[in-house]
Formats: sequence, C-alpha cells, structure tokens
Amino acid sequence: MEQHDGTFPEIAPWASPVARARISQVAADLGGLWADLSAGGVVDAVEAALHGHARQFDDEGIVLYAGTNVMSEAARRVAEAPVGGRPSMGWPGEKYQAGLDRLDVLEVLTPALMARLVGARFAEVRSHSATMSNLAVYTALTEPGDTIAVLPERAGGHTSHHAVGAPGVRGLRVVDLPYDVDAYDVDLGALPGFLERERPRLVVIGASLLLFPHRVAAIAEAVSAAGAVLLYDASHMAGLVAAGRFQRPLAEGADLLTFSTYKSFGGPPGGVIATDDAALAEKVSDAVFPGLTANYDAARLAPLAVTAAEILDDGGTYADRCIAVARDFAAALSEEGFTVAGQGRGFTDSHHVAVDVAALGGGRAAMARLAEAGVYLSAIGLPWQADGEPDRGLRIGTQEVVRRGLGEPELRQVAALMADLLLRDADPATIRKAIARIREEARRA
Ligand SMILES: *Cc1c(COP(=O)(O)O)cnc(C)c1O
Repeated sequence: MEQHDGTFPEIAPWASPVARARISQVAADLGGLWADLSAGGVVDAVEAALHGHARQFDDEGIVLYAGTNVMSEAARRVAEAPVGGRPSMGWPGEKYQAGLDRLDVLEVLTPALMARLVGARFAEVRSHSATMSNLAVYTALTEPGDTIAVLPERAGGHTSHHAVGAPGVRGLRVVDLPYDVDAYDVDLGALPGFLERERPRLVVIGASLLLFPHRVAAIAEAVSAAGAVLLYDASHMAGLVAAGRFQRPLAEGADLLTFSTYKSFGGPPGGVIATDDAALAEKVSDAVFPGLTANYDAARLAPLAVTAAEILDDGGTYADRCIAVARDFAAALSEEGFTVAGQGRGFTDSHHVAVDVAALGGGRAAMARLAEAGVYLSAIGLPWQADGEPDRGLRIGTQEVVRRGLGEPELRQVAALMADLLLRDADPATIRKAIARIREEARRA
C-alpha cells in the first residue's frame, strides 16, 4: 500500500455535527487498522462488520422497518452467481460486448414477469433503484423549469419526489398536492382548482407511508382533465400490488407505476417502471438506457426474476399475511395504550402501521430507544403534524417479520414489550433479551 501519514481522513467535513460525531467515533475505532493499512486488515474489518450486523440485526433483532426485506432462499441462491462484475450494455442482439447471449434470458424474462405481475404491457427493470426510476420518468416527461406536483413530506412524499432529490437534479419546480388529512389522501375537492393554478406536467402519488389506498380513479380523472400525467410510486406497496392486493394503480387509471424491488416486493435492490402506454414506455426506457444507466446488473435481474415468479406462484398468501398481521399488531399496540393512526378505519389496509409518538418525545427519540432494545424501525412524518414540526410518528412494516415466520402471537408479545419500554419505562437491556428470545424461537420453529 501507498505511504500515508497514519491519521484517518475526515470523510465529510460538511456533514451535520451529529453525523460527524458518529463518523469520528467509527474512524477512531479504525485508527489501528488505518495506521498499519493492509488488504488483510481491511478484509477482517469488513467481515467483522458484516458478522456483527447479521447477529445484531438479522438474528437477534426484530426488524419492523418498512423499507426492507429478506430475499427468499431461491432468490438468494441465484443472487450469488458471480456475474455482478460482468457489464452488459444495450438491448439483446446489439450488445456493446460479445459473449453475453446466455444472459439475454434474464433481460427478456424479467420485464415480462414484472409487467404481468403489475398488470402492465411494459416494464423497464434496468435501473438500479426506484430513485433512478423516478428520475428516468422526470427526464422522459418533463423539461427543466417544468412543475411537478407531489405529496407533502408529512404525508409520505419521498425524497425522490421533492426538490432536494431527483426533481432538483432535473431542475423542476416542485409543489405539494392539496392533502385531506381525514381521508389520508389527496384532497379531491381542491385538486382541480390546484391543477388549474399550478399547471404541473406530472403528478406523483404513492408514499413512503400508505395505510389506505389512494382514490386513483378520481385523481386520474382530474389529472388527465388538466393535461398532466399521473405517476404512482408503489415503492412500499409493490409486494401487495404485485399480488393483486391493496390496489391496482394502472388498472385504476395511473399512467405510470414505479417501485423499489427490495421493500415489500422482497427482491434485490432495484427499480421498475411499468406502463400500458407504448409511447410512454419508449420514452422512459430511453431515459433509463442510454440516459441514466449504461450497464444493467445481471446479478440483480437473476434474483428479481425468481422473486417475481415466487409472487406469481404464491397467489397472494404472503401479501394477505402481511396485511392481517399489520392489522392485528396495530390493534395490539392500540390496546397497549399507543396512539395508532387509522383507528376509525381498522388501522390499515396495507402492511404499514403508524404510531403517533409526539407525546413520547417524537419519532426519532422513540426509534432510538427501541433500537437499544433490538427493535428496528424508523420515524416518519404524519399528515396532521405542523409545518416544521419534527416527525411525530413511528412507521412499522410487517413484510420482514412475516417472512421470518412471526405471526400475531409473537407480535402481540412485541407490542407489549414496546409498551413496557416506551410507556412504562422498562430497561432496554431487559427488553432486548426478550426480543432476542422471540427471534430465537421463531428461528427454531
Ligand atoms: C423507498 C422509496 C423510494 C426509493 O427507493 P430506492 O430504490 O431506495 O431508490 C422511492 N419512492 C418511495 C415512495 C419510497 O418509499
């Protein structure tokens, strides 16, 4: 290795004080490795990090974070194929590189499976994330300076819908859609006037927290009357939508569907864009390649195809379990004394549950306390919070715990432990042991 002076470099001097404190702590722990740098030392450090994480998170933790999942065994097996470093650029038959013809199967089969799952004619599967899929849609359908209308952040509008993210990269003006807090949806009464005033080219619905379906048909009618295009971002709902549950955004009137493939869908990281419209499909496809992606990753499409086929095979059983377990867990949390969103409507129609913890110090504080006890999830804004108010909520997703074999009885225990911790001030170390025991029993069952 090259000579260096032995002090660990500051990797992000522009980061927040909280982030810099944590980065310094990690850097200090790596000090010995850095002072005497070797490939073997780095391999050891990387392996230790991965093993430590697997133990803490996968084996002993209960993961209620809504934006993750674990792949099935069959998907994991094909994901291990060493083709990730085999670049493949262009359509089959006109590849830039020679000798990749066997892999053409992945590139033909995967979009066909994806399109069939979500009820679309076309699916573009080559982008590496849903953020890139959304950027491809913006690139295809808007010009810099155009307006797009999106859900407010407190209603689950994602970074990749807001000016700080992909729309800013495209130079778009971003406005918040009018929102009806009681309906957990776009304000249908205010929508036509809003569209008339703001004249967006594109309207984006689909959120990072979605307890109840959007009224897509009514939204689509107003959007189409205003001459705009409707994108439904199903990143979180993809596993349900693909199973024919929750809602069928394209059949209900959305022009385009984008989603992440690693959340409820349960596949590898990646993004999909689906549509029935051949002209839209061609534009977004050209935006993905050659626009935003050169080589697609064959190592990603292999487990994606397997995951898609498993969802087709399963006939909705997994999605139904995710929803049933979410409803029961929400009821259990409510019985324990938590303020659970959607109380008057059966709490949720999806695998998401939201808890308002403003009275318990807010979402970030509750999330940190739960993490100390081995329960991993995230804070989230809730539609009724004030502008500038920190995230009031905790967001829960049941997609991973269901895959891991946890059901209503185990999650009722988790609800009681969460109440012990957050409402009755129990010691996190004690709760952590009980959480690890629940995981251990589920693993043995
Ligand atoms: C998670 C999420 C994304 C981003 O997905 P990536 O694949 O991680 O880029 C986009 N949109 C919504 C609504 C999300 O929740």
